[in-house]
Parts: sequence; C-alpha cells; structure tokens
Amino acid sequence: MALIVQKYGGTSMGSIERIREVARRVARFAQEGHQLVVVPSAMAGETNRLLGLARSLSADPSPRELDVIASTGEQVSIGLLTVALHQLGLKARSYTGFQVRILTDDAHTKARILSIDDANIRGDLNDGNVVVVAGFQGIDERGNITTLGRGGSDTTGVALAAALKADECQIYTDVDGVYTTDPRIVPEARRLDKVTFEEMLELASLGSKVLQIRSVEFAGKYQVKLRVLSSFTDVGSTDMGTLITFEEEDMEQAIISGIAFNRDEAKISVLGVPDRPGIAYAILSPIAEANIDVDMIIQNASTEGMTDFSFTVHRNEYRRAMDILESKVKPAIKAKGVVGDDRIAKVSLVGIGMRTHAGIASKMFGALAGEGINIQMISTSEIKTSVVVDEKYMELAVRVLHRTFELDKAPTQEKMKP
Ligand code: ADP
Ligand code: ASP
Ligand code: MG
Repeated sequence: MALIVQKYGGTSMGSIERIREVARRVARFAQEGHQLVVVPSAMAGETNRLLGLARSLSADPSPRELDVIASTGEQVSIGLLTVALHQLGLKARSYTGFQVRILTDDAHTKARILSIDDANIRGDLNDGNVVVVAGFQGIDERGNITTLGRGGSDTTGVALAAALKADECQIYTDVDGVYTTDPRIVPEARRLDKVTFEEMLELASLGSKVLQIRSVEFAGKYQVKLRVLSSFTDVGSTDMGTLITFEEEDMEQAIISGIAFNRDEAKISVLGVPDRPGIAYAILSPIAEANIDVDMIIQNASTEGMTDFSFTVHRNEYRRAMDILESKVKPAIKAKGVVGDDRIAKVSLVGIGMRTHAGIASKMFGALAGEGINIQMISTSEIKTSVVVDEKYMELAVRVLHRTFELDKAPTQEKMKP
C-alpha cells in the first residue's frame, strides 16, 4: 500500500463526464489498496472566466479580492469530484486550502506555501477516505484567502506530497508526459521517459507550462517522487508517463533534453548612459523597489564613455517599468533615451549534457542564422542557452532547433560521443 497524491489539471476536470473519469481513475487506485489525496484544478477555462468577471468591473482589481474570486473555481471542483467518488461507493471528503490550513505568505495572486497542517488529512486517510484538496489556494496568517499563481495546483499537489511524505506525486494532465518541447508547437516532439530534476527546473522556469516552477522547486527540496501522466488514457492504463529523476544516468542522457519558450517577457533599453560605477544600480534599483523582477541583463561595451543598458521584465510589468525609467531614472542619470519592445520571445535549449559538450551554442546560433532569425539577446548557464528573438519568429525558431538537434530521435550511443 502506498500513499499517492494525484493532481488533475483543468482539462482533466473540464466537464462532468471528465470528472466522472477522474473519479474512476481514483477508484482504481483505491481498489488497488492505496491511500489517495487528490488535488483538482478548476474546470478548464474557469479561472480565466472568474478573473475576467473581476476585470470587467475594474481595470485594476484588488489582488486580495482577485484571490477571493479565483479560488472559488477549485472549491467547485473538489465538491463535484467528491460527489462523483461517492457515486462510485468510495468514502471521500473534500477540503479547501484554508480548511486544511495550507498556510502561505500574503503575496496575493502569487503566494508561497509556508506550511501545511496535515492533521485532518491524516485522520481522514486513516478512516479509509479519499481526501480531495483544492489546488491553487491557501490562507495567510491573518486568515485572508490567497492563490499560488497560475498553474499553482501543481504546487499544491507536490507540497502536499512533501508534507505527507507520500510515496509518489502524480500530475495528470492532457499530455502523457514531458516532451522535448510543447507537442502543440512541434508535433514530432518526443516524450521523455525520464528528465532530471535540474533540467525540469530549467524547462519550467524558461516557460514550459507543463509544471509550475514552484512545484519543481518543492519536489527538489523535499525529494518528492514526481511523475507527469495523462488523464486521457484508459483508466486501467499502466503507462508511467515521465519521471522527474534525481539521478543523472549518463549512458542514456541526451546532450539536449528539451526546448522551452516564453512569450511573457518584454525588452527595455536605456540608451546613451555614462559608463561609470553605479549605473547598473541606478537603473535597476528603482525597478527592484517597485517589485519588478528582471531577467536577462546586457550592458554593451562603451564608446567614448557612453553605453547602452538592456534588460527584460515580465510583459505584465512592462508599462510600469517603462514609466519608472522615463520619469525617474532617465533624468537622474541623464540617459539619452529609453526604448522598449514587448513583442519578443525567449527560446531556450536545456540539457545537462551541455556541461561536457562544447559548441552547442554556436550550433544553435548557426541554425537560427540559417533561417534569417536575428538574435537580440543571449544568456547562458551551465545547462541552458537562451536567446531573445522577435516574437513572430518564435515558433519557427523552436521547430528549427528541434530539427537541428534531432530531438525527435531517441539519444543513441553515437550521438553521445563528444
Ligand atoms: P493542466 O491544466 O493539466 O495543468 P497545462 O495546460 O497547465 O495543463 O499543462 C499542459 C500543457 O503544457 C500541454 O497541453 C502542453 O501544451 C504544454 N507543454 C509545454 N511544454 C511542454 C512540454 N515540454 N512537454 C509537455 N507539455 C508541454
Ligand atoms: N486553476 C488555476 C489556473 O488556472 C490553477 C491551476 O490550474 O493549476 O491557473
Ligand atoms: Mg497546469
């Protein structure tokens, strides 16, 4: 008997018939003798609908109230799923995040989980119940409802698995695992049977929406055995999906594991700034004070003591960042100008094989040049290379790189040679 946490995403919960299917799958595992904690998301489209209602009343709704509104999607899901489980003859009880007491910080709409009280859940499991816990939501110290950011039910699932020391956390979604890239963009994308935790962390942080980044961070920190699988297979399916593994098995390891992409950023350049100590600080500290995260940063070599300074921010914060630069930074440092572009995309190659193989970046740049795609910014780390390109070339860039690095083919011994 194992303790398993299963998370079901919005599409998996998308209709009454889909909810019945989820219940059947849960029942199968229960009948096999396992203890189950099930974390559903809101029904497909529901979170967007709820947030849309708020935005139809105000262009800038209070984040606290957005959380009150958005968290109801998951509350409906837990109730419906629990009723469906009862219909199959199972004992089951539902809990909202605040009933469990999933304690978070007070960063509304992007709260972080601080602790989970497992008393109710353990008690119910020991009484033979399936426990159904709402994803995406928690409560702060003062009793305010919080949500964990888009895709946050993944994090609820993994955090519960960590708190309960579950044997496995299974993330059920509408694809049957983690692919070399989004199969919606590249139909030849190949499913990975395993991906290392480190690579998954990079893929998630660079834009692969299949797992929320914080869920992967949790899995790493607490060594949760994490799998991504499909809820659209036969209920009796023994397909194992993709395992996020902590071992690096060199023999079967491809140099590149996957390609991530992200349309969520915008680029800003401060032009003609004097090249002297303190300039990066003068530009970026007002941005940091406004709680705006900065991703890539480039400072050009200076000519005649002047330089340009560019960086990227989340597209949602682009306007705010531009306003701060125009009104505060530009006059303070006597910059010539501030220009921005919110039609960019970031495309990234990820693979732990990059550590030991030279020439990956140049092959990447060559492939993009071959298609006439201009690279606007570059950033590298030990296991990733990212480029910023014009948004309209994003899909082309992903396809070209997928082909160039032959990601549709399983890695062979031959391909492993340096
Ligand atoms: P859920 O509602 O189940 O949480 P999401 O839409 O959040 O589902 O995540 C699943 C989607 O992630 C897939 O439908 C797929 O389009 C997308 N995706 C992006 N990158 C990848 C990848 N590398 N492998 C698999 N799916 C990916
Ligand atoms: N329902 C939330 C969202 O749409 C959380 C989730 O699906 O993981 O972002
Ligand atoms: Mg998701």
